[in-house]
Amino acid sequence: MTAADPDIDTFTRPYWDAAAQGRLLLRHCAACDRTHHYPREFCPHCWSEDVRWEPASGRATLYTWSVVHRNDLPPFGERVPYVAAVVDLAEGPRMMTEVVDVPEAELRIGMELRVAFRAEGETTVPVFTAGHARS
Ligand SMILES: [Zn+2]
Repeated sequence: MTAADPDIDTFTRPYWDAAAQGRLLLRHCAACDRTHHYPREFCPHCWSEDVRWEPASGRATLYTWSVVHRNDLPPFGERVPYVAAVVDLAEGPRMMTEVVDVPEAELRIGMELRVAFRAEGETTVPVFTAGHARS
């Protein structure tokens, strides 16, 4: 990604810096005790500003997925097929991501996943793979 990437701004920088170090951060609201994702400056549940970064457990379960066999947009074209997925994080929020290193036939709704990290150019993105999180 480049400096012009709209996904990375001053506010989300801690999220991406943590990902580069192999840590997943989520936003937790002290006012209503809920966690959300994708990171927002205000709590999307109660609009409180009392929201802090907290490390996630890295655990999730598979909610739904779609195997993508064709995508002409770089860099996806070099990676097909890949598994575009929505996972339920242990902390509550739902997250759009990718499931890696799991054969298509072994994908199951509700299967246990743990976070992994993949470098993409200068950015590291959270993806998920089978198994329990390291504790
Ligand atoms: Zn809240």
